[in-house]
Amino acid sequence: MLIARHEAAHAVMRKMCGLGPTSLLAGSEAGYCAGTGTYITSEAALLIVLAGPLADVGYVFEWGDWEKSHSVDLSLAKQMIEENVLLRMKFCQSATPLVPLSPSEALKMQLTRAGDMLLDHVELIEELAEMLVEHHGFLSAQEVGRCLAEVEERFNGQR
Ligand SMILES: [Zn+2]
Repeated sequence: MLIARHEAAHAVMRKMCGLGPTSLLAGSEAGYCAGTGTYITSEAALLIVLAGPLADVGYVFEWGDWEKSHSVDLSLAKQMIEENVLLRMKFCQSATPLVPLSPSEALKMQLTRAGDMLLDHVELIEELAEMLVEHHGFLSAQEVGRCLAEVEERFNGQR
């Protein structure tokens, strides 16, 4: 279930970034969230990468939790932030001069931001993770899309 949730969080973040669904794979040791081969912004790519580790730790990242998470995602995120100064810019008031954050400060900021986004969609992530487990660890892009649309429709009906 942990890996299913991790992969489901990557998938839900993809959706939040306005990207189409892709297939998901969750094994007992590791999982995989496919890409589509289309161009995505570095910001979306970073948020999607961070979604998995955040799901592992309940969407609130504490520095002591590094080891609990899939370090592959976090190493990738760190690399992305180090290579791209835009990912280190703070979203700030226009009066403040634009000064890039240090890589570790930027990672903290982006983790907080991605965590806040995911916290609004916890039920969606849980439902997708359950479906992934029910389907023995594999969902096609179509199945992921259908699941996300169905859950969303149900939420909208309740409002
Ligand atoms: Zn991951």
